[in-house]
Amino acid sequence: MEAAMTKALCPACVDAAGNVLTGSYRAGCRECEARAVAHGPAWFAAEKANRVSLADAPEIYRHALHKVFGKDLEHWHQRVMLWGKRIKEARTIEGKA
Ligand SMILES: [Zn+2]
Repeated sequence: MEAAMTKALCPACVDAAGNVLTGSYRAGCRECEARAVAHGPAWFAAEKANRVSLADAPEIYRHALHKVFGKDLEHWHQRVMLWGKRIKEARTIEGKA
């Protein structure tokens, strides 16, 4: 959340800061879109392929990033990875509860 925290968060991002598994997203918020991608099948495929570099990531994932963000894909890839990690951790904790 480092850099994003310095910007004003939308209400859905505030929800997500408390509970990353929240289903709330705000249309037009890039950070919410990154979180949505991290919840979706494209990231699932990328994570399964276990590629850190965007260039090596599965096409479904690169295509999704391009479709959602259009540019600055490397930056958004980092954001999606971070959300993906947090989502995974949250699910692990939930699974143990
Ligand atoms: Zn947001």
